[in-house]
Amino acid sequence: MSSRRQFLRETSLATGGILMSSSSFSNFFIPVKPKVIIIGAGFAGLAAAKYLHEKKIDFIILEARNRISGRVFSHTIDEKENLVIELGAEWVGNSHHRLHDLCGELGLTLENNQFESHLIYQGKYYKNGEWDYSEGWKKKFQALIDNYPKLTEAQQKAIDKMDWWRYLVNNGCEGRDLDLRELLDSTDFGETIRSVSAFAALAEYAESSEKNEMDLKIKGGNSLLANRIADRIGMDKIKLEHAVNRVVQNTKGAVKVYCDNGQSFTADKIICTAPTFAVKKIKWEPGLPTDQVNAMNELQYARINKNPLLFTERFWKDESFDMVTDQSPHYFYHATKNQQSKKGVLISYTIGEKAAVVANQTDEWKANMIQQTLQPHFGDVKALLEKQTNYYWGNDQFSHGAYALYGKGQWFPVRKILSRSHIHTHFAGEHLADWQGFMEGAINTGEDAAQKI
Ligand SMILES: Cc1cc2nc3c(=O)[nH]c(=O)nc-3n(C[C@H](O)[C@H](O)[C@H](O)COP(=O)(O)OP(=O)(O)OC[C@H]3O[C@@H](n4cnc5c(N)ncnc54)[C@H](O)[C@@H]3O)c2cc1C
Repeated sequence: MSSRRQFLRETSLATGGILMSSSSFSNFFIPVKPKVIIIGAGFAGLAAAKYLHEKKIDFIILEARNRISGRVFSHTIDEKENLVIELGAEWVGNSHHRLHDLCGELGLTLENNQFESHLIYQGKYYKNGEWDYSEGWKKKFQALIDNYPKLTEAQQKAIDKMDWWRYLVNNGCEGRDLDLRELLDSTDFGETIRSVSAFAALAEYAESSEKNEMDLKIKGGNSLLANRIADRIGMDKIKLEHAVNRVVQNTKGAVKVYCDNGQSFTADKIICTAPTFAVKKIKWEPGLPTDQVNAMNELQYARINKNPLLFTERFWKDESFDMVTDQSPHYFYHATKNQQSKKGVLISYTIGEKAAVVANQTDEWKANMIQQTLQPHFGDVKALLEKQTNYYWGNDQFSHGAYALYGKGQWFPVRKILSRSHIHTHFAGEHLADWQGFMEGAINTGEDAAQKI
């Protein structure tokens, strides 16, 4: 019997063991303190860099974008009012201990970012506390959660072979309960729950904090953590606009990395934190093993569109307002909670097919969509809309999605293959993490990869 986290830790320790024996075999050829190239300055890359910095191991970070922080992307939507919103990662979970520690160490404050959910369903608006799952389904769901720690490894693998929608149906979820679970859980995974491994979903709900890790946020913006780490390690160690396009690894211990801008770098080891789409675009010499390439081709990433809407007043009144709808805007949340101003931002958060549709429309179309959903319950909100912006992660040049989406049958085999090192390269990033899909997971894998070196 093992939990998702225990299982993964055992897997990564096993991988670490293999790596240690191969590096001690080649110790003869490499310097005691190798020089390391880190690909990517997201949370995984920066966490790896901080670890190496503390161990006095020489490194350089090559980052393709013109900014650090990757899929954590804080944005000031109103300079005068100093309203900061998140175009990428939003919530820090109560269980995300490493992130809490780093915030403490680097002088950052975590503030409450929990919400009380409202609902629009079949044309009716329900305030927080006025809606819930049926009593019968709540009992059945609790039984599934209670049984989770007792699952054998074989049972976990059997559940992984099913999608979360099917698993819920098979366990007695139906009608309105099933509709609500689809609406709520698809916001967590970024795609319909018919595309999500039942094991990945069950593990997430069984092991997460009460609010499913939607607990906190870094005061001033989550990107501040990236900035503070960059200050600590030295910005001169990070080369922006250095997109790696070719990696040549010599079995005797040297690596050479080439960038789109014509520059090249040599080192002894690589930590590659790029999302799989970007890893696959790099020309690896020698090539990546076929099963690893196949795993990269198989793994999908969630399509999420964030459409932040700046309103001249907070007409939703409740600072902890969020709302799930069965309409096109899908999910709204108050993105300027704890930020003093008369103005406020609601983010319309769409997933999967809906995200791809909304992302392609004009601002006027989006404003009308919001008005159509909110006007019957909140009045003429379009008249209060001052400004909007939009970020669609499905078209992001480097990730082509918000975070990895493990589908049915993928959680155990695919993740394991992707985690394998390739000659002198260790892989890291959210997609390989125990806390998969979270900033915490990115940090954990970055530190693990650095430790292997
Ligand atoms: C919309 C959205 C909502 C989210 N919500 C949450 C949330 O509420 N809570 C939470 O904890 N997490 C959330 N996440 C997930 C979180 O953002 C990620 O798990 C985490 O930021 C991933 O970090 P990483 O370092 O693994 O990858 P990245 O941040 O993607 O970093 C990888 C870096 O590699 C760079 N790169 C790619 N290719 C190359 C190349 N060839 N050469 C050089 N550099 C390259 C990229 O530009 C990028 O900067 C969300 C993400 C999104 C997009």
